[in-house]
Amino acid sequence: MATSMKKVTIWVVPLYMVAMVMSSEVCNQGVNCFLPDCFCGGTVDPGTFAKSSDIPQMVLFSFDDAVTGDIKDMYDKLFAPNRLNPHGCPISMTMFVSHNFTNYDHVRDLYRRGMEVAVHSVTHRVPITYWKLATYDTLSFEIIQQRKYLSEKSGIPLKDIRGWRSPFLQPSGDQQFSILKEENFEYDSTFTVSTKDGNNSRVWPSTLDFGWNYECNIPPCPRGKYKGFWELPVQMLENPAGKFGCLYTDSCRPGTIDETFQLFWANFHSHYTTTRSPLFFTMHPAWLIEEKNFQALDYFLLTLLHYYDDVYFINYQQLLQWMKRPQKLQNISDFAPWDCEWVGDDTWLSPKADDRTNKGGNIIPPGIYIMLLFASCAFFMIKLVQ
Ligand SMILES: [Zn+2]
Repeated sequence: MATSMKKVTIWVVPLYMVAMVMSSEVCNQGVNCFLPDCFCGGTVDPGTFAKSSDIPQMVLFSFDDAVTGDIKDMYDKLFAPNRLNPHGCPISMTMFVSHNFTNYDHVRDLYRRGMEVAVHSVTHRVPITYWKLATYDTLSFEIIQQRKYLSEKSGIPLKDIRGWRSPFLQPSGDQQFSILKEENFEYDSTFTVSTKDGNNSRVWPSTLDFGWNYECNIPPCPRGKYKGFWELPVQMLENPAGKFGCLYTDSCRPGTIDETFQLFWANFHSHYTTTRSPLFFTMHPAWLIEEKNFQALDYFLLTLLHYYDDVYFINYQQLLQWMKRPQKLQNISDFAPWDCEWVGDDTWLSPKADDRTNKGGNIIPPGIYIMLLFASCAFFMIKLVQ
């Protein structure tokens, strides 16, 4: 009897100690974490390029909730097929789609034109505690069933639906990641990174091989580790109107069309002229139903497409492909994951045959160019004076 007790003690203690050591292990890029499967995150780019000008400035729009007729019309205008990134492929974005009120034919059409479709639950139910306290079965239903709807009703292969965002950005703890990983999702985009001074955040996405590395703004955050699973956090934007920053672009509540344009512009400028970390605009499309907001975003897109040959509007999956195999700006035209020859059943784009100088710029009337130029110059002047 005494001999048996002793044996148990000998085995239990070492295992416990190993677990302690493992849980305290810190992510160290190039030492215990290697691309393309693992990235520690932080503020250093995955390519560790010598100059930030080697990095394409990636701008990512994500839109949450239902895809209705009004919203589809807006997406059609903003992401028109003739609006091209500098390498000649159409610009793209990511939609986190919830079930109620969604028109799946519209989703199919947008997917075929190169937009990314990701999952945002079946019910999108209130109160928020529904998500905070969700059981494993409840959350499984919300995730798996909505992916099934998107696949079956919009004809999207399951393998192409790879991302999830929880309603209200309310995480459900470890079970969220267990389900997503089990179901072969590639990434989550629920967690938030904010700054204490309200300035914009500039972190790169990371894998959860060593757990969630940042402050837990909205508990419960995961405590476990999820090898090779990516988190693309929602990051705080700077609010040039002098108010505190915001996570959803619409939450900064700009007043006039000029304030709205400056909200986009100020955040672009501060990324583009510093580290060139990916710039995320996380939005509710309903906000764009208001004409001034739509116009401000439209002007912002057209300005960048017309004046910059190193800015790319891409979706989350394209960003992850770049994260895994970072490419210098000058090599982007040969980067297969960003290529675009086939975009639908009967629609082919041949980027190499397209006129790459046509970046949708001729859509803006000349008067608007002058107005935009004036607005941009005025903004830079104000920045310089400050
Ligand atoms: Zn939502």
